[in-house]
Amino acid sequence: MQKNGSINVNVLLLAPNAGVGCFFRPESRTGFSKDRWAIPPLGLWRISGHLIKNKYANVEVWDGYVDSEESLISRLKENNFDIIGFSITHQTLENDIYFMHICKKYSPSSTLVIGGDEATFNYVKVMEISPIDYTVLGEGEKPMADMCAKIKNGITNFKEIPGLIYRTETEYKKTGEKTCDYKRTGPNYAMDHKMFSSTTINIDWKMIPYERYWEQIESFYEKPNLNETRTVRIFTTNYCPFDCLFCSSTNFLNAAGGSENKKRANVAGLTPEEIITMLKEILESHPTTRNIFINDDDFVLQAVRVQKFCDLVCEAKDKQILPDYLTFM
Ligand code: SF4
Repeated sequence: MQKNGSINVNVLLLAPNAGVGCFFRPESRTGFSKDRWAIPPLGLWRISGHLIKNKYANVEVWDGYVDSEESLISRLKENNFDIIGFSITHQTLENDIYFMHICKKYSPSSTLVIGGDEATFNYVKVMEISPIDYTVLGEGEKPMADMCAKIKNGITNFKEIPGLIYRTETEYKKTGEKTCDYKRTGPNYAMDHKMFSSTTINIDWKMIPYERYWEQIESFYEKPNLNETRTVRIFTTNYCPFDCLFCSSTNFLNAAGGSENKKRANVAGLTPEEIITMLKEILESHPTTRNIFINDDDFVLQAVRVQKFCDLVCEAKDKQILPDYLTFM
C-alpha cells in the first residue's frame, strides 16, 4: 500500500486514564492526585513518532493527567480525526470506556481503535460494551501505519491489514486471514531489531510535555525533591522472554503472532550507543532532567550490553556530554 496518497490523515491517540480519586468511581476523570506518579504514555509517543516521521499522518496525543476533558471535546469538535486510538489498561478501563463514548459522540465518523496489553487479551469484553471498530493485537506501529496508508488512498476498510480484530454481527474476527496479503505478511509480527531501534529512536522527545507533568507533581510538595520529580522514563528492549505464565508483558507479543517463523517473539533492543544518543536527545529537549528511569521489563537481560552501557555513561559524564548529576533507576 502506497503511503503517499493525496489525502491528509489525522490521528488522535488517548492515554490510559486513571483520573482523580479512586480507580472505579472517580470524581473527576482528568488530572491526577498526590498518590499517583503520572508519566507520559511512551508507547503512544513512539507510535506518534513513527507515523509523523514516516509521513503517514498528523498525530496528536491527549493524556487526561495533564489535559482536560473540555480540551478533548474542543479538539474533537475542531478537528476531523480519521482514527482515534485508545491505549487501555485493566486498572483504568472504566474511564477509558467513558472516553471512547465521548469520542464517538463528538466525532462519530472517526474509526475508533484500541491497543495495548488489555486490548490484546480482553478485546471481546471491551468491544462488547464500547463503540470500538478495531482492536490492534500487539505493537501498534505497523497496523496503524497500514491504516493511515489506506486512508491516504481513500480506503477505510481495514479488513485486509494483518493484526486487527473487527466485529461482525455474530462474532469477532481477525483481519486478513483469507487474503493473499496475509499469507505473505502473516499476523502482526513483533517489530524486528531494526524496526524496534528506528521507532524507538524516532520518539520525538521535544513533543512530550514533561515540564507540565513535573509542574503538577511538584505542586503537591512544599519542597519537592527535583532529583525524583524531574524523571524521564525510557525503555530499551521490547520485552522479557522469561515466560512466567501470569505475566502479560512476556505473553503480549506472542499473543499477537510472535516473530516470523517462530511463535515466540525475538527480543529486540537498542545498542548501548543508541541509548546514549537517546539520552543526549532527552537532555537537549528537557535540560532540567535529573533522573532516568529505565522501564524495561528486564534491562539486565544481556549483561555485556549493560556493562558497555555503564562504561559509555561514565565516559559521557567524564567528557561532560551527560551532566554529572544525572542519575539512573
Ligand atoms: S517481566 Fe518478570 S514476571 Fe514477566 S516474564 Fe519477565 S521475569 Fe517473569
